[in-house]
Amino acid sequence: MRLAFRMPLSVAFLGLGAIGAPMAGHLARSDHQLTIWNRTGGKAQVSVAAAAGARIATSPADAVRLADIVVTCLPQSSDVAELLAADDHAMANALRSGVLLVDCTSGDPETSRRIANDLGARGVGFIDAPVSGGVAGAEAGTLTVMVGGGAAALERARPVLDCFAGKIVHCGEIGAGDALKAVNNALLALHIWSTAEGLVAAMNAGVAPQVALDVINASSGRSNASMNLFPDRVLTGAFPRTFRLALLDKDAGIAAAMARSQKFPSPALQLAADLMRMAHLELGDDVDHVEAVKLVERWSGVELRA
Ligand code: NDP
Repeated sequence: MRLAFRMPLSVAFLGLGAIGAPMAGHLARSDHQLTIWNRTGGKAQVSVAAAAGARIATSPADAVRLADIVVTCLPQSSDVAELLAADDHAMANALRSGVLLVDCTSGDPETSRRIANDLGARGVGFIDAPVSGGVAGAEAGTLTVMVGGGAAALERARPVLDCFAGKIVHCGEIGAGDALKAVNNALLALHIWSTAEGLVAAMNAGVAPQVALDVINASSGRSNASMNLFPDRVLTGAFPRTFRLALLDKDAGIAAAMARSQKFPSPALQLAADLMRMAHLELGDDVDHVEAVKLVERWSGVELRA
C-alpha cells in the first residue's frame, strides 16, 4: 500500500472576518505554516489562528512574501482586486511566481476572471473557492467549497482546503464557484423571505408559527430556512449575527445580474435581489441576514415568536 505524503505548505490567510477567522484557525492547527493578516490588526492578535501559533503579518505584502498558497476571504471580489493593487501593487508584486491564490470570498465571476488574468500575467495561479456552511460549518471544519478554475490548481489547493472543508466540488472554469454560490444564496434569500410571509399569513389565519413550521417541515414547502433558521433564530428572537445581511444582498445582486446578462426572464432572482437590497437599506450594514424577517414583521405588524 502506498501512503500519500503531503509536504507542509507555507500558507497566507487574509481576512479574519466571521467566517475567515475559524477557517484560518483550522489551518493554524494543521501541519502547514500559517501567516495571517487582517485589515484591523487587533482582530488578528486575538484570533484563534494566532493563539494556535500563526505568524501575524504587518501588511498584505509581508503576509504573502513566502507563501506557496494565499487564501483570501474578504466581502467581495473588488476588495480582493483592490488589496492586490493597493500601494502600487505591493501585494501583487510580493507574490512569488508559481504561487496559487485561492479566493474564498463569495465573489462575482467577472471580477474573478479579471483577477485571474492579471495574476496569470505574473505567473500566479488563481481559483475562486467560495464556501457554504456558515460560521458553524467553518468552526466544525465541514464547509462545502465550490471551486472554479483548473483541475490541477484545485489539486494544489486541496491540502489547504481539506483543513476546513467537508466537501470540495469542482464546479467549472474560473468564476463557476462564484456563480454557483450566488445562486445558492439567492435561493436562501427567497426561502427566508417567503417563509416569513407564509408564517405571517398562517398566523393571521389562526395558526401559531411553531405549528405552521411543524407541518411545513414535514411537507414539501420545507427548506433550511424553515427547518433551522426559523426555529433557532426567529421563533426564539435570538437572531445571532453570523452572516451579515449586507453580504446576502451582495450575493443576491450577483445572481440577479448574472441572470439579467444572460437575457432570460428571471423575475424570482430579480425579486430576491430587490428584497435583500431593500432589507439591507432599511436595517443597516451590521444586522444578520435572518433579520430580513424583521421587515416582513414590521410591514405586517406580526411578530413571529414562539
Ligand atoms: P465579515 O464582514 O465578518 O468580515 C470581512 C473581513 O474582510 C474582515 O476581516 C474585514 O476586515 C475584511 N475586509 C473588509 N473589507 C476589506 C478591504 N477593503 N480590504 C481588506 N480587508 C477587508 O465577513 P465574513 O467573514 O462573514 O465573509 C467573508 C466572505 O465569506 C464574504 O464574501 C461572505 O459573503 C462569505 N461567506 C460568509 C459566510 C458567513 O456565514 N459569515 C458564509 C459563507 C460565505 P476588518 O476586520 O478590518 O473589518
